[in-house]
Amino acid sequence: MLEPALLPTPLVDCTDGFLARAGVELRLKRDDLLHPTVPGNKWRKLAPNLAAAVERGHTRLLTFGGAYSTHLRAVAAAAGALGLESVGLVRGEELAERPRNWSLRAAEAAGMRLEFLTRAEYREATGRAAGEGVGEGAGEAAAELQRRWGPCLVLPEGGSNALAAVGAAAIPAELPDLGERDVVCCPVGTGGTLAGIAAGLPTGARALGVAVLRGGEGYLEAEVARLHRAAYGREFDGWRIDHAHHGGGYGKVPAELAAFAERFERRHGIPVERRYVAKLLAALFQLTGAGAFPRGTRLTAVVTGLPDPE
Ligand SMILES: *Cc1c(COP(=O)(O)O)cnc(C)c1O
Repeated sequence: MLEPALLPTPLVDCTDGFLARAGVELRLKRDDLLHPTVPGNKWRKLAPNLAAAVERGHTRLLTFGGAYSTHLRAVAAAAGALGLESVGLVRGEELAERPRNWSLRAAEAAGMRLEFLTRAEYREATGRAAGEGVGEGAGEAAAELQRRWGPCLVLPEGGSNALAAVGAAAIPAELPDLGERDVVCCPVGTGGTLAGIAAGLPTGARALGVAVLRGGEGYLEAEVARLHRAAYGREFDGWRIDHAHHGGGYGKVPAELAAFAERFERRHGIPVERRYVAKLLAALFQLTGAGAFPRGTRLTAVVTGLPDPE
């Protein structure tokens, strides 16, 4: 078990004149305080996977990520803390020769062995992992990775699988008195966090995900539904994904969004991670301004992570 620093995570009121005038309440679920090196939703999604890895006698984790992947760093830190080996397959062969950036340096410092793949190799390998445990040929795909890298538990890119969704379902379970007026909100990268939140809600309450990448319409909804079937053997309703607040695409932080995040930090005294959390909060303010939430709505924004150290 990967010990959390703080669980349940704090739930704090966020008082704001703009929202108040629209009759909307905002609360922050401070999952960013969950763990210093396996923050927020990465801890929620990894914890049950790590427990399963240990139970099945695995001694090594294998996963995937880009040059600045939070998931890669989180897996490295978690494996290190539990005394497991970890292998990270990194997108971009050219990175092998360059000095390591802070993110890859942190993964290596936690004990992860990095292997750099061409984009084509990466696509093929992640395609295999994404198929792990779900469709036809899944066993064969995992077996192929294991032949190449040795016996290991393969975690998909971004860490979203059935167990990850079950882990994230603990978030709404920590929110007391959810009902008809509640909307629990989170950013959406791969959809695992939203899938868990939607599955964990009591009847009447709803979930809203804000996509941080461009062009995810349809694909992300299908991912959430696939995770629901994989984890719970059924689909859930009462959730939706907003695709209008990605700020230009994954990792893009327009000046306006950066200014919003700085203002929010100054006003409310909490650090705002820019690639996910800032987009979520900005979306909630814009949607409120556009009248998307009836008066009396109570929003709970899940602060899914910490700002990058650099
Ligand atoms: C990885 C990450 C997400 C994305 O979560 P998914 O489950 O992939 O949708 C959201 N917020 C933060 C801060 C993250 O690091």
